[in-house]
Amino acid sequence: MKNIKDYSIESLKEELSKINEKPYRAEQIYKWIYEEKVSNFDDMTNLSLDLRKKLNETFIIKEFKIQKKQVASDGTIKYLFDVLDGNAIETVLMKYHYGYSICVSSQIGCKMGCKFCASTGIPFVRNLSSGEIVEQIMAVERDENIRISNVVFMGIGEPLDNYENVVNAIKIINNPKALNIGARHISISTSGIVPKIYKLAEENIQCTLSISLHATTNEQRSKMMPVNNTYNIEELLKAAKDYIAKTNRRISFEYALAKENNDNLEDAKRLVKLLKGMLCHVNLIPINKIENGKYQKSSNENIIKFRDYLNDSGIVATIRRELGSDIDAACGQLRRKNL
Ligand code: SAH
Repeated sequence: MKNIKDYSIESLKEELSKINEKPYRAEQIYKWIYEEKVSNFDDMTNLSLDLRKKLNETFIIKEFKIQKKQVASDGTIKYLFDVLDGNAIETVLMKYHYGYSICVSSQIGCKMGCKFCASTGIPFVRNLSSGEIVEQIMAVERDENIRISNVVFMGIGEPLDNYENVVNAIKIINNPKALNIGARHISISTSGIVPKIYKLAEENIQCTLSISLHATTNEQRSKMMPVNNTYNIEELLKAAKDYIAKTNRRISFEYALAKENNDNLEDAKRLVKLLKGMLCHVNLIPINKIENGKYQKSSNENIIKFRDYLNDSGIVATIRRELGSDIDAACGQLRRKNL
């Protein structure tokens, strides 16, 4: 059975033509799913019984079950969703002054092997489908009875390693007839899969690209992130520049500060050299300690010094607020839990 939430409106029209149905039916079905939020084709009362029967025979409307829900002291909520095939994924809801932001997973497990991340070391199982990405947002909105305004692809998985499903999910998230979240309120974070950055630049979607840089020399970065052995810092920054030139969008570089690893003034100086003149922003993340991880959080003093040095040198840098760390919901703490 096909998950109906996997389909962009254009592809749903094609799918319906295969069962001899008119394209406008897709609009009606979209309305039932994304506006009325029905979970059953039989509730789509303006469709003929015959069409409802065909839909029941062809599609399912996949809704996750909440396996576990934890609320942090700052209000951040971490969900463990049962994705109905024996696997589970984590999704995090954060409340900011401007609204709700959701951190979605893009894969069950991750292949990237970043040494400081809890999603590492758990075997990769499979990509999430577009509908499973979309459903993370819908399931949280249903559960909390809220409307989410921002989506970040910073949960488990490497979004650019699941390129087609992620780009298609963005089309659904973005569509005014579906979740209607503006592309500028959607961020994709990548560990740096260079060919996919070039490809994304051609898509003509206005989402924000975040690049996990985390280090300023190849030696240092390769130790933290094995992907650097395939695509090094120079290649990565070249792709980033191409992305900026083609999209006119500012890139956000993530830099997780770990004590005595990448947090001293020499690092800050090299970072300025690397990024000088680029349309970018640096997001400093105090590294979150993970089980058995060797990286320790930098001192607050060092983090502030690092930020101030960047800002004084003309590189806009901010420190990411830590949310949800008491329930292991902060950056890099998500993992695929077994049921
Ligand atoms: N695979 C993607 C998205 C998932 S991780 C990527 O690598 O960008 C989202 C962000 O959290 C990335 O910048 C990642 O490097 C960062 N991160 C991972 N582990 C972390 C940790 N322990 N502390 C702080 N940030 C971490």
